[in-house]
Amino acid sequence: MKRIFPVIVLLIALSLVGLIILQASWLKNLIDLRNQQLYDKIEIGVVNVAAELGKNAFSPSLRLPNTEREIYPQTDLGTRLFKPTTLRDRYAPSDVYQMLDKALDSKKLTDVKFEFAIVTSEGDIEMSSSKFQKEFEDTINNKKFHVPVLPESGSDYEGLIHAENLWVVVPDFKKQVWKSVQWNVAGALLFVLIILTAFYLTIKTMLNQRKLSQIKSDFINNMTHELKTPLATISLAVDAIKNEKVYNDKEKLGYFSAIIKEENKRMNKHVETILQAGLMDKQELKISLKQLNVHPIIQDVADKFALQLEDKNGAIEVNLTAKSDLINADETHFTNMISNLIDNAVKYSKENLFIKVYTHCTNKFFIIRVEDNGIGMSKETTKRIFEKFYRAHTGNIHNVKGFGLGMSYVKTVVDAHKGKIRVDSILGKGSTFTIEIPLAKAL
Ligand code: ADP
Repeated sequence: MKRIFPVIVLLIALSLVGLIILQASWLKNLIDLRNQQLYDKIEIGVVNVAAELGKNAFSPSLRLPNTEREIYPQTDLGTRLFKPTTLRDRYAPSDVYQMLDKALDSKKLTDVKFEFAIVTSEGDIEMSSSKFQKEFEDTINNKKFHVPVLPESGSDYEGLIHAENLWVVVPDFKKQVWKSVQWNVAGALLFVLIILTAFYLTIKTMLNQRKLSQIKSDFINNMTHELKTPLATISLAVDAIKNEKVYNDKEKLGYFSAIIKEENKRMNKHVETILQAGLMDKQELKISLKQLNVHPIIQDVADKFALQLEDKNGAIEVNLTAKSDLINADETHFTNMISNLIDNAVKYSKENLFIKVYTHCTNKFFIIRVEDNGIGMSKETTKRIFEKFYRAHTGNIHNVKGFGLGMSYVKTVVDAHKGKIRVDSILGKGSTFTIEIPLAKAL
């Protein structure tokens, strides 16, 4: 499992990269193709229009002034009459526009905008659409087409006429190409995104699963150890009692049965913790909140630990200074919560353990603080200690046994009291847990 995981990630990542590269090259090809297609279609349209213009323009006809009222100087008349006809004489700009429009429409290019001009062989513009000049200058975005307009081959004028040119400029040519592939691009991007999301979710689930199975096996190991020790002690004590010498000695009998009772209690406590965890899972922690003065409860719990601490050369200082200690609390769970916090302070301690428990309050909140000078926690640990089964024991940080359930229980109880819990800790220096619970009556 451990080795197969990176292989799976690598394989999926490789196939993803391959897929994305393939998609990109496919899209690029498509864009190139559309580019060429659009270019060809427009070019054919322009060539057709130029041919049509040429066919009609150069039929023999007497060239007459455009308007009857136009008066020509006598000298000029001859040259004017025999000057070959130009496209301007035959077509109005709107005619040319319509011809081009029709030609493009027949190629299904209804959306394509264009500007056009008829230019003489000397380079003078005979006629043009309104924005031709402007669009002509933009050589980056626009595509130009130009086709000479010639008389029909075989006509009398063939070879005699200087060609005029039909120029067509298509503004924003690239944009038009993009427009035609936009759905393909959007589709490709969407599917790549979906695949990436699926990949991310798969990896995340796999990592979670791996962490979970690690946590589970840790938990089972811990539990086995924790239950085996009292079982072994009980078994030894029972064996001892069976011995005739002990059997007849009342004092020894009392001693061993006390051990059995003690170990039995310990096992019971473990089973209780595990059961509690099960209940927390199903949100079944039964809480019945009552208005309680909690200072006596805190004092009681602290007193119970005081004896234990004397044995260890430690001390506990209790400083209950809150003006009000009346909160809505569940007595059992509240007691367990304080007990768990102090218990941990004792469990994760060094020499000269000193625990401070103090309370104070603000207008609306009752605040309890449990401070120790124990082994402390890393940042990573402080972030995760309220997770169920989480223990910072990996990496030999400590060798205290436990199930990693105490803190998640504390968090559940704090939540049930509508409170907040915070932990500040420095590795090697100690930890402070701060709990805020709303006062039953605001001050
Ligand atoms: P357990 O004590 O059974 O391991 P808890 O849920 O009570 O489980 O605590 C989770 C972890 O948080 C502990 O394994 C320990 O690493 C860390 N921890 C809790 N309280 C303290 C503390 N006062 N000082 C240092 N580490 C602590």
